[in-house]
Amino acid sequence: MTTNNPDLPGYFLQFASDNSAGICPEALEAFNHANGGFAASYGNDEATFEVCETLRRLFEADAEIFFVFNGTAANSIALASLCQSYQAVICSDIAHVETDECGAPEFFSNGSKLLSSPSRHGKLTSSGVLEVITRRTDVHYPRPKVVTLTQSTELGTLYQKGEISGISRVAKEHGLKVHMDGARFANAVAALNVTPAEITWQSGVDVLCFGGTKMGLPIGEAIVFFDRRLGEEFAYRCKQAGQLASKMRFLSAPWLSMIREGAWIRHASHANAMAKRLAEKIAGIAGAELLLPTEANGVFVNLPEYAREKLKAKGWAFYTFIGGGARFMCSWATHDAAIEHLAHDIEQAIASANCEANRL
Ligand SMILES: *Cc1c(COP(=O)(O)O)cnc(C)c1O
Repeated sequence: MTTNNPDLPGYFLQFASDNSAGICPEALEAFNHANGGFAASYGNDEATFEVCETLRRLFEADAEIFFVFNGTAANSIALASLCQSYQAVICSDIAHVETDECGAPEFFSNGSKLLSSPSRHGKLTSSGVLEVITRRTDVHYPRPKVVTLTQSTELGTLYQKGEISGISRVAKEHGLKVHMDGARFANAVAALNVTPAEITWQSGVDVLCFGGTKMGLPIGEAIVFFDRRLGEEFAYRCKQAGQLASKMRFLSAPWLSMIREGAWIRHASHANAMAKRLAEKIAGIAGAELLLPTEANGVFVNLPEYAREKLKAKGWAFYTFIGGGARFMCSWATHDAAIEHLAHDIEQAIASANCEANRL
């Protein structure tokens, strides 16, 4: 196992994203196993068939399932399949589809507009969604056709089951479909202690983009259509978008070991627990302010500019363009010792900032 090796340079310092971690051992083993010889291409292989069956059992649904290379593609082509070019997608104002996909949802849908609604702690509200739906009905304004929710959210928070079904109810009453960006779906299931079915189709979600990359796979996301009819011609869309892998088994097989052995929940729980521990430590540091509840695997904290610079100079990697503070993401590979070390350095960085200020 090479990726969880604390002796690697920079191993401890990496909190920029959960996608900076490597491949988890279960997925790597399945990946290598899939390399055992020849197999039919384009998804007509046994591993892909088995993974789809396993995911259907996991979701307790006769779903139509596709595998694509990344989350931007998954979201974009899934959304495109749900609306016409003159229709619109309602998303939160900090949704990945809105802020981090370079217009791909609009591109793949031939122009469907994203209509953003103010979020609270990264979440849409049913009243906010209703406001967008009923804002205009004239021909000059795009017609809302889909609502997209991110679970867990871009700000490390969670939609409770009732929040999802509440938004879905409003959507369904007005003829809209519900899409879920589940780049961190595993973290949500692990944290909420619910079945995958409960927070998806049983709460009104029509399509889920289930993230594999951030939970420890080498690459790839699964698109799960709970209503098979919605996925009817989706294979053509995947191919046209350059998202049909010819050696599909390498995208699909790693899912099998992750799901069957429960590794996906185990790893996601670990990531969540590491974030919780970091948040608890930060809560005790004067001058560091937690910006959001830590419900999944991300910690958002307000740090003085000087302290942020100091941490960066020491080599700590984290983003500052999401959520208005410093974002520290934990993953399956985050080490306990790294949390201790990081909390210690945050405290020191703030203390040195205070010394500096006193001198001025
Ligand atoms: C990471 C992420 C994605 C997927 O991003 P890609 O880099 O395209 O794989 C989608 N949505 C959210 C909320 C994410 O955090």
